[in-house]
Amino acid sequence: MLKSDNIPTVSKRIEAVQSVKGTRDLMPPETSVWQRVEEEARRVLRAYAFREIRTPILESTALFARSVGEDTDIVSKEMYTFQDRDNESLTLRPEATASAVRAYIEHRLFNEGGLQKLYYMGPMFRRERPQKGRYRQFYQIGAEALGSDHPAIDVESMEMLVLLLEQLSVQEFTLLLNSVGCPRCRPEYLKVLRHALEDVRANLCRDCQRRAVTNPLRVLDCKVEADQPIIEQLPRMADYLCPECRQHFEAVKDGLESRRIDYRQAPRLVRGLDYYTRTTFEITCSALGAQNAVLGGGRYDGLSEMLGGPPAPGFGFAIGEDRLALVVMDSIAKQLELGPLAYVAWIGEAALGSAENLARALRRQGISVEISHQPMKLKKSLGTASKLAARFAIIIGEGELESGRYQVKDMTTGQQTEIETNQIERYLQQNSARAI
Ligand code: AMP
Repeated sequence: MLKSDNIPTVSKRIEAVQSVKGTRDLMPPETSVWQRVEEEARRVLRAYAFREIRTPILESTALFARSVGEDTDIVSKEMYTFQDRDNESLTLRPEATASAVRAYIEHRLFNEGGLQKLYYMGPMFRRERPQKGRYRQFYQIGAEALGSDHPAIDVESMEMLVLLLEQLSVQEFTLLLNSVGCPRCRPEYLKVLRHALEDVRANLCRDCQRRAVTNPLRVLDCKVEADQPIIEQLPRMADYLCPECRQHFEAVKDGLESRRIDYRQAPRLVRGLDYYTRTTFEITCSALGAQNAVLGGGRYDGLSEMLGGPPAPGFGFAIGEDRLALVVMDSIAKQLELGPLAYVAWIGEAALGSAENLARALRRQGISVEISHQPMKLKKSLGTASKLAARFAIIIGEGELESGRYQVKDMTTGQQTEIETNQIERYLQQNSARAI
């Protein structure tokens, strides 16, 4: 055993270890918003018959190279890729559509016939330049409907997302919509686009000069300010759609209109991943500032085949949970300031047992309760209840023990009511309206 005089004293100040750049701790009360977002998302997804899937965070690098595309920003410069000890190349998933489709193929879900509707929630990793709303570890809530190319799937998914935003009291958002065609019509468009790019290439940013040759569609994604007027003048995919894609696009637009879902056509919305076909869409919130896309997705009718599976047309989206939480934070910030629903203030050791029993009974009903484990005078107890922002304080002293009726003090109005012990739960439930 070490003797105390043998323990070396630390004279140098040890520098605290910090979280990695672009990652962050989610702390209370922000975590309450995240819980609220996730609960509502699960509820809405379940209502539309989606079922949860949980796939690994680690995947083979080839999965993303083949699906997202070698020349996308994600694959070419943002992935966290490393050689495992047995030299296999692994990647922390930058998105989860590819993983979901891999799992769909691996578990032969196509054999079950019909539509497979899956959803997921979890962290994604992209080595982007961090800023507000953009992180290197960020979270997505996504869903995929596999096994049909019917435009009603696209419409229904967008309807579901609008419902989710409404349920979360998100007020101002814009649904942007486009079609990127299919392998039949896109080559013709790409030829025209390449041709148009030849004339303006020299005036574009360095990345776009490269993209103009390797993957011209990606030029449309460019965010560089100076490139925008040039990109604005480029030919539009919508003018080159084949009859089937055109019909599909019209059906999606008609479906949205008949459901009175507002949208705006966005001819440049190709999204940063190669697997998209036909519908692409995004929902933006102006409250978010520069990183204003709160969610995005689209159709990927060839992805299953790209990953070695059978034909399985699909439609999916991913919500940026960090961004949605930022938007939702504003609308429910007031409720977040609330502490537990009840604080049990017991006076005198004799009341402790009854106080603990009451706290336990209420907690079993899911009611948020705090109780002190130290004896306190009434005044200090009420002071603690107020510091914790408890909505009610339940006072149990000698008199209350005798009468079997407890004092319930409404901490917002100061009003005090005597309630039978077995009525307390009902009283709290009836007199509190809160979303969290
Ligand atoms: P994507 O997977 O690129 O289609 O993105 C879908 C959604 O995820 C976007 O609309 C954003 O809300 C969110 N997202 C993408 N990248 C990031 C990031 N680096 N940080 C935070 N959210 C992100």
